[in-house]
Amino acid sequence: MIESARIQRRQLVLVVDDQEINRDALGITLEDDYDVIFACNGKEALEQIHAHEADLSIVLLDLMMPVMNGFEVLEHVQGDEQLKSIPIIVLTAEKSAELQALQMGAADFITKPFDMPEIILARLGRIIELSEGRQLISAAEHDRLTGLYSRSFFPEYARRLFRYHPELRMDAIVIDIEQFRSINDLHSRAVGNEVLRFVADEIKAFLRTTEGIACRFEADCFEIYCLHGQDYKALLSRFQKRVDEFSPNMTVHLRMGVKPWQPDVNPMLLFDHAKAACKQARGNYQNSLVVYDEEMHKREQLNQRLINDLRIAVEKQQFKVYYQPKYDIQQGRPKLVSAEALIRWDHPELGLLSPTDFVPLFEENGLIGVVDNFVWQEAARQVAQWREAYGFTLPVSVNLSRTDLFDPTLFVRLNRLVESNGLECGDVKLEVTESAYTDNAKKVLRVIGDLRDLGFEIEMDDFGSGYSSLNMLSEMPIDVLKMDMKFVRRIEENETDLRLVELILDIARYLHLKVVAEGVETEGQLALLQNAGCDLVQGFYFSRPLPPDEFEQLIKRDREATKE
Ligand code: C2E
Ligand code: MG
Ligand code: MG
Repeated sequence: MIESARIQRRQLVLVVDDQEINRDALGITLEDDYDVIFACNGKEALEQIHAHEADLSIVLLDLMMPVMNGFEVLEHVQGDEQLKSIPIIVLTAEKSAELQALQMGAADFITKPFDMPEIILARLGRIIELSEGRQLISAAEHDRLTGLYSRSFFPEYARRLFRYHPELRMDAIVIDIEQFRSINDLHSRAVGNEVLRFVADEIKAFLRTTEGIACRFEADCFEIYCLHGQDYKALLSRFQKRVDEFSPNMTVHLRMGVKPWQPDVNPMLLFDHAKAACKQARGNYQNSLVVYDEEMHKREQLNQRLINDLRIAVEKQQFKVYYQPKYDIQQGRPKLVSAEALIRWDHPELGLLSPTDFVPLFEENGLIGVVDNFVWQEAARQVAQWREAYGFTLPVSVNLSRTDLFDPTLFVRLNRLVESNGLECGDVKLEVTESAYTDNAKKVLRVIGDLRDLGFEIEMDDFGSGYSSLNMLSEMPIDVLKMDMKFVRRIEENETDLRLVELILDIARYLHLKVVAEGVETEGQLALLQNAGCDLVQGFYFSRPLPPDEFEQLIKRDREATKE
């Protein structure tokens, strides 16, 4: 028995405390599971540590001691490459001392008067276990570029602060650099790195004014866990101002997401929310600070729910396609010439959802393909059915998302769609929103050009809402411009808006493009557009988007009127 116990060498623990009563208490707690040695002050502790350097598993270190205190021991051990890997748990009754010790590299702490023995043993066991892979961890503790904590170490640290310091109210802050990639591209990686280091230094300077920790989470994304109640607005403008001074010849724009402290919410969740807030600030140069609030929380929960419900919705046919008519207004009385298919989600609990509730969400995570495919199928089937019923073809346009354009099966699917319903390519028109053209424009233009060559008519949706430059317009393989609603909204009251609409119509005429005015709601708007030579209009003035049976009534009415 003794033999095998010796072979299975027990782990060695050093207990350092100036009070005999504390040494005894810990000795009794640990002796069944560990070999325990003792020291009465910092100086003795260092001697023991050096003597047992090779086989010491952990040190339990009192902070307040005569001769040499625990902080000095910590500092010495952390500064020694050989000793650094020995984990140290500090023993203290003072909260502020705990944090300081953690910042100095302590692995954990035990609060005096001592916790229950089981808790001490569990904590000790866990830290020793953690430290087995310690070399690995310590190598990765700091981010080499900025000297902040690394993304692997930081969450563990934050978690410990949360767990053992419930009295500390800590906020999560995420800072990101807008379009960081373009800084690298335009200037060089070295310049990009300098910017990152500068931002990190500013964060360090901030952390000298309050308690907290920070890491570089990803390339250009920083996370700060700091005391609750900072003036975030002032903080962001201070960072921004300093960065502007540092880089007067380039645009470095910071954005910030914050999730303030909340009782019992762990840092992981806080940072999830802060990240979501930071994401919301993306591209919004007017408002680069977003604080995660109740509304965002509800939105996130709803989004998650919609993602979960999508599959069932397809299976149970909860998606409905509505149709909104487009009228030709240049041939005497307005004539119904086509329609736009618009998705609705008839959710059993949430009611009828508009596409603005879920299309942007599904575009972001790539699930939109499922929805779009359904709409295309349904729309093509409907065109074929109406042709059968009324003896003429009413082309329907469907919306394409950016992700659809990058889907390699797009051509096959669209071809099959048309063929299987006995239609021509021209019977299904494709609306592609203007913003889809901005990123990776070459690829988008090629795909759209190919679709057009196949015979599909391409409508540029929401024209004027994005930033496509006018000189690109002449090279775009499109047939129709759908003028964004915002142009039409005020043409009756605002002379300038009317001029703008006329200008767009001029350009379109010059480029041989037809124009659809969207969002026409009044007779006055219709008259002005008619005068200005706009070809087609779509809007509530004629009809809202309608379910198929109601749209059919509209077709019938239009047919009757044509006969008269
Ligand atoms: P969009 O393609 O620009 O569609 C026109 C939107 O304007 C529709 O909103 C329509 O109901 C609304 N609208 C039409 N006339 C008027 C008017 O006179 N006044 C006002 N205030 N609004 C009018 P809806 O149906 O809510 O669709 C919103 C957007 O969602 C669409 O904008 C489109 O970008 C997207 N969407 C809709 N269905 C689909 C789909 O099947 N797939 C994809 N990818 N996106 C879709
Ligand atoms: Mg559209
Ligand atoms: Mg539109």
